[in-house]
Amino acid sequence: MTAWHAELAWLGPEGGLAERVLVEVEGERIAAVTEGTDPPPGATRLAGVTIPGLANGHSHAFHRALRGRTHRGRGDFWSWRELMYRVAGALDPDRYLELATAAYAEMALAGITAVGEFHYLHHDPAGRPYADPNRMGEALAEAAGRAGIRLTLIDTCYLRAGLDGRPLAGVQVRFGDGDAQAWAERAGALRDRPGLRVAAGVHSVRAVDPAAMAAVAAWAADRDAPLHLHLSEQRAENEACLAATGRTPATLAESAGVLGPRTTAVHATHLTEDDVARLGATRTTVCFCPTTERDLADGVGPARALADAGSPLCLGSDSNAVVDLFEEARAVELDERLRSERRGHFSAAELLRAATDHASIGWPEAGRIEPGAPADLVAVSLDSVRLAGAHPDTLLESAVFAATAADVRDVIASGRQIVRDGRHTSIDVPAALQQTCLAPLLRA
Ligand SMILES: [Zn+2]
Repeated sequence: MTAWHAELAWLGPEGGLAERVLVEVEGERIAAVTEGTDPPPGATRLAGVTIPGLANGHSHAFHRALRGRTHRGRGDFWSWRELMYRVAGALDPDRYLELATAAYAEMALAGITAVGEFHYLHHDPAGRPYADPNRMGEALAEAAGRAGIRLTLIDTCYLRAGLDGRPLAGVQVRFGDGDAQAWAERAGALRDRPGLRVAAGVHSVRAVDPAAMAAVAAWAADRDAPLHLHLSEQRAENEACLAATGRTPATLAESAGVLGPRTTAVHATHLTEDDVARLGATRTTVCFCPTTERDLADGVGPARALADAGSPLCLGSDSNAVVDLFEEARAVELDERLRSERRGHFSAAELLRAATDHASIGWPEAGRIEPGAPADLVAVSLDSVRLAGAHPDTLLESAVFAATAADVRDVIASGRQIVRDGRHTSIDVPAALQQTCLAPLLRA
């Protein structure tokens, strides 16, 4: 048994902020939570505000190597994608392991205790399976283990280059398994284990035809696993989908059985009112990735309308140009303000709830400081220039609207301390990032 004593702890939207909270941990799980108590001998003190571990609902770890390099010049999502493909083409399993380890270690420093990796870089550059066909996915599992965070490997089906049925070409041949059955056979060899859960992904309605989408959805339903898909990130996707099928991506996905309470639609930026109603009515979670969506000039999704319609919200760092879920959380509210010219669409508690939503990536027991939950604790310091002077009555608002990843002081994930006093306990993260992002092959 280990014990942590939080000066202040956020016990969820109902519990609010509590003082002097003792969290007792047995193995990986929280055994007891006691408010208003003094620390017993041996308890480790957590200063500032302690929140549950943050959940990163959508990541592409290898995009971390692109930070800065895509931030020059003009263009749009599609010109950005060309550069992204260059890095995707250069990765082998060893380099992928190195890059993902550094990216996940950065996430650990930011208070993220579980990540959903939307993984489609399956095969070698010629599109041939590695000797172990899941070698690239296994590299991600190894990377998350080294960084000390849990991984949901969202093994993603990617079969064609566009809605017109063009075959995969160039770098894309690495992504494809040929057909949905071959995808299911390969992904089916992956098994849940401690720290790893396997989920299914449909890359998008562009990349997977309706029959294959239905097969992936059935695979996920059989395993009671989460199912994620990119949805309506770009207007061009909507236009191509309407032209090819007469339906919006959301209605096409629904007709293939893809929407539902185990499903997460990522981005959901350009939706019709009918799309919003369908996503809400099916209780499909929506994952907003505002720092990436603004970076790629995608647009602003209808977050409040989706939440009102019944969709739970979660958050993702996506391209990892920014790894800071505080920034993602407040952006959901602040983008709504820009769009509506009104303030106050989401409370700080609602935004923090989205930032700690582990259910969408298949850890429904996590994201709460309560007995039985995984012991994921994130201590946010109150003594940086950003939070010094925060008023005791509005500490949660200060944390959500003013904190950054740099204010995360201590992180415990699955009962193990992985960040102490702002440093990763086993990885020199800046050195690891420098080494991997500047590796000659990735610089090309
Ligand atoms: Zn994505």
